[in-house]
Amino acid sequence: MEEKTRIDCKKCLMPFEKRFINSGGDCVVCHEHSKKWLRRDYNQAEQELIKIFDYYKKRNENKKYDCIVAFSGGKDSVYALYLIKKKYGLRPLAVTGDNGLLTQRALKNMKTIVDRLGVDHLIVSQDQEELKSVYRAYFKKTKNFCEICYLIISMSLGLAALKHDVPLLITGFAFKTDSSHFRAERRYCFEDSFVNIVKDTIPEDVYSKYLTKNIRAENHFHLLHLFDYINHVEKDIYEVLENEIGWDSDDKNDKHSDCRFHHMLGYIRWINNDLTSLVFMTPAALLRDGQITIDQFNEMLSKEEEQFQKVDQELVEDFLDFFDIDKEFLAKSLEKPVLANPVIEDKDFEPIVKARTSNLKSKEELLNMLIDIIRPEIRRDGGDIRILQFNNNLLRIRMYGACRACMIADQVMVRYLEYLVRKYISDDIVIENTKELVP
Ligand SMILES: [Zn+2]
Repeated sequence: MEEKTRIDCKKCLMPFEKRFINSGGDCVVCHEHSKKWLRRDYNQAEQELIKIFDYYKKRNENKKYDCIVAFSGGKDSVYALYLIKKKYGLRPLAVTGDNGLLTQRALKNMKTIVDRLGVDHLIVSQDQEELKSVYRAYFKKTKNFCEICYLIISMSLGLAALKHDVPLLITGFAFKTDSSHFRAERRYCFEDSFVNIVKDTIPEDVYSKYLTKNIRAENHFHLLHLFDYINHVEKDIYEVLENEIGWDSDDKNDKHSDCRFHHMLGYIRWINNDLTSLVFMTPAALLRDGQITIDQFNEMLSKEEEQFQKVDQELVEDFLDFFDIDKEFLAKSLEKPVLANPVIEDKDFEPIVKARTSNLKSKEELLNMLIDIIRPEIRRDGGDIRILQFNNNLLRIRMYGACRACMIADQVMVRYLEYLVRKYISDDIVIENTKELVP
């Protein structure tokens, strides 16, 4: 496979194609990271968080639970659950979407933790054979499978929220150190893409179970990513896990005990000569965020590499069997799957380009034009957007409606919007997505 010329980012040391490195030598991820996270006022964010929590505590005071916490048994969700229960005094229901790939060890781990924290735990399960057919159909066209797990989590949270009348859904996703998708030149509704990919092979009544659209259409959930409000620092997390919860430190290096095929991600990339970005992901994120030294970075990097390459044959066989494929298939490149068509085309933005070139309009006016142009895209999913505040290049928005129960939409929409405002209005605008309190 042809290798593109890559340059190491000065800051996170991760190699990138030249077009992703700016004139200062920083990669696009580091550039975004410093704007968005390094200047974040976590004291203020926590005040906001407490206000939101107070609201839902009161709203649900006569109910058994005041929030739902997405619980995979991985370190971030365990830490999130701990904070929600012990630090902020909420009454959470921990919800696990059974992704069909949970290990016995992960289940045992989860049970120990919910018992120690004194939290109720709901596991939302699917028909395992149907679920497997969905995984197979999706994998055969894309060679990815994490997306199915995301769908299952979203759907499970939505179902649990409806059943128990709990509108506050909390996740432990840490977007500060998760740079898996850093550019969003186009926005796709993920569920539409999913349907496009599996519709030829899977009956509609099967795949439609995995969509949250029906749940979302009538119900407004408040999807809250806890680590948008609280600084996510690995060292602190492990300290709490070990000292307060009694987490077995041998599990420390296995960050994804909730997925029995996690290590296959590296294996697939490896036999496709594409392991670099995956190996760099975590060490680069921690270095970028100032959580580790360069020595620690190097040590971590070689550990990651070793871990991803050292896949035992039994696991490979298990994987091939699960997806009904052979080794040759894994090494073969795929055609790009057809995704959903975007509602908005580049030419729709021409009026903004014109107005900007002729200096006829202020930034505020340009911004309003832009929002009007992308509104149909958001309304397609039954959602909407409002500008709350725009000054000193800080743009605070609020997303309404259907998109909010979908974990992917929340992030993808904001990234897409960010891409557009920087391209068409000003490169130094930072977006804050604030959440609305649900009545
Ligand atoms: Zn970088």
